[in-house]
Amino acid sequence: MKHCRVAPLFSLFLVACVPNSAPERVVAPPAVVQPVREPVSVPAPAPTIAERPAAFAFAGELEQGGWIRGQAPGGAVAARLGDTPLSLDEEGRFFAAFDRDAAASVTLRATLKDGRVIESPLAIAPRDWDIERVNVARRAGGASANFMRRRQPELDAIWDARLRDTGSKGWRQDFVWPVTGRISGRFGSQRIYRGEPGSYHSGIDIATGTSGTPYVAPADGVVVLAEDDFSLEGKLLIIDHGQGLNSAFLHSSRLYVSEGEQVRQGQHIGDIGSSGRATGPHLHWSLKWRDARLDPLLFTGPMR
Ligand SMILES: [Zn+2]
Repeated sequence: MKHCRVAPLFSLFLVACVPNSAPERVVAPPAVVQPVREPVSVPAPAPTIAERPAAFAFAGELEQGGWIRGQAPGGAVAARLGDTPLSLDEEGRFFAAFDRDAAASVTLRATLKDGRVIESPLAIAPRDWDIERVNVARRAGGASANFMRRRQPELDAIWDARLRDTGSKGWRQDFVWPVTGRISGRFGSQRIYRGEPGSYHSGIDIATGTSGTPYVAPADGVVVLAEDDFSLEGKLLIIDHGQGLNSAFLHSSRLYVSEGEQVRQGQHIGDIGSSGRATGPHLHWSLKWRDARLDPLLFTGPMR
């Protein structure tokens, strides 16, 4: 085994509460006994702290490019992973994830109504990324001004689309493969050109050999971008799964959905192609949570 896996797939952790100050025991206050004849109305006692679940509960893949789904402690009014605020739904449930280059530890932190803070430190296992060292110089020079005139509005549109929160609940589902085929490019792989790192591969490439193979939505979502002709991505589809998690599908030959449309897991949303900058027909599927780039393999498990 190349690296130590912190936990088996989809296992559930219950992490004990870590007080932010010196450990203290929470003791229920003594019951207030009202004299029987006292004609005073007594307000219902506020629930004691001990009656509420006190710790974060979560499950997922605690490694670089991985994710967790969980529930914040009862009474939480805000929660964060490191410096990143989490969205809590009505039941305090949340999604959070770990960038390809995430540090070895990060802390989940909830602030309760009464101001107390509950923390849960997480250990994030490092990955053994596929790094190829080549003895050629990295292509010199940046993009031409001419190219950037076309490119910048595309980058802005992608940025804006990824910021949209549609309220989709797709993040709660177990993801399925959009299509099966040969994995021709893995997430996170990177070339180093005479010591100078190139950018790593931001998604997973699935090649089926031919153009026109249908692919489906890996989870429920809402289409936040459907573009016909972006310079690098070609026909590009971005689907928001809610809570800051979204999928992008590149190089399609045809798209079957348009912006604003709700899609269901398993719905045919496009056909594989080689539009944009692609050497052959394949689906490039990438997943992002806020600023973190994630490994689709850790959402679907191995292809069967
Ligand atoms: Zn790719």
